[in-house]
Amino acid sequence: MSTAFYSHSDCRAHDMGQGHPECPQRLDAIGDHLRATGLDIALEMRDAPPVDLHDAERAHSSRYIAELRHFLEGVKQTGRPRAIDPDTTACPATWEAVLRAAGAAVAATDAVIDREVDSAFCAVRPPGHHATRDQAMGFCFLNNVAIAARHALDVRGLQRVAIVDFDVHHGNGTEDIIAGDERVLMVSIFQHPLYPYSGAVPKGTNMINVPVPPYTRGPEVREMIEAMWMPRLDAFRPEMIFVSAGFDAHRDDELGQLGLVEADYEWITRRIKDVADRHAQGRIVSCLEGGYALGALARSVAAHLRVLAELG
Ligand SMILES: [Zn+2]
Repeated sequence: MSTAFYSHSDCRAHDMGQGHPECPQRLDAIGDHLRATGLDIALEMRDAPPVDLHDAERAHSSRYIAELRHFLEGVKQTGRPRAIDPDTTACPATWEAVLRAAGAAVAATDAVIDREVDSAFCAVRPPGHHATRDQAMGFCFLNNVAIAARHALDVRGLQRVAIVDFDVHHGNGTEDIIAGDERVLMVSIFQHPLYPYSGAVPKGTNMINVPVPPYTRGPEVREMIEAMWMPRLDAFRPEMIFVSAGFDAHRDDELGQLGLVEADYEWITRRIKDVADRHAQGRIVSCLEGGYALGALARSVAAHLRVLAELG
């Protein structure tokens, strides 16, 4: 099995200020750990290209894309950081990072559909799953996974794709974009209540939301995934699977209060891969979302990648 690893130095340059948990060091921690463990050698390292804005418009309104571009290019010109949301700040490097993060997801989708690689992981920032059709929020500007899923459907002609979101926070942006699009099945598990406080009632019949209370641990999470996700994923028979891979449900992560560990991420990835192998010719594109405890993030990403690349 070959697995591509998409990233770009522009994604590192996006900086929301000292002390912000969604920091450039997240990508350093992942890269360092892959090199230290030799996992980098087993992956096909690729540079993320910038997204074509027409692709971004498959998930966002053209008006939002124009406003976002104006805002971020303005920040680049003035050189002064500016908040777009109480949690989300743009710096002069943000526009390029946003383009590369979404571009990675689209390029990974093409590479997997064209069978250049079996699967792909996008180690990108900013993350995307809180970005709605017309709003930046929660550290997110463009919804990388939703853009890639729509690219697979609208441009590459796939009929059914699944989105799996295991970030500790509800993927409200992805839900906002794909609710009612019956070509997409979204399954997610997230702590509730927790930011953005949505998800307890799904917005569409094409989504399986599994809210779990604080302090839920791996064994219970696995049971719920088995019972709530698996039958629906198998019945849906996705032709490709997109993953919003957030690692902030880890017990070391201070942004949530769930108790997952590396072995749980390995198990979840195995279950996703089983579905992909049964129905989707193994096609998986996974994009980094949250994960803020740097050591836990790096080890959890490695566990995820070892299953994707079948490295045992
Ligand atoms: Zn999160």
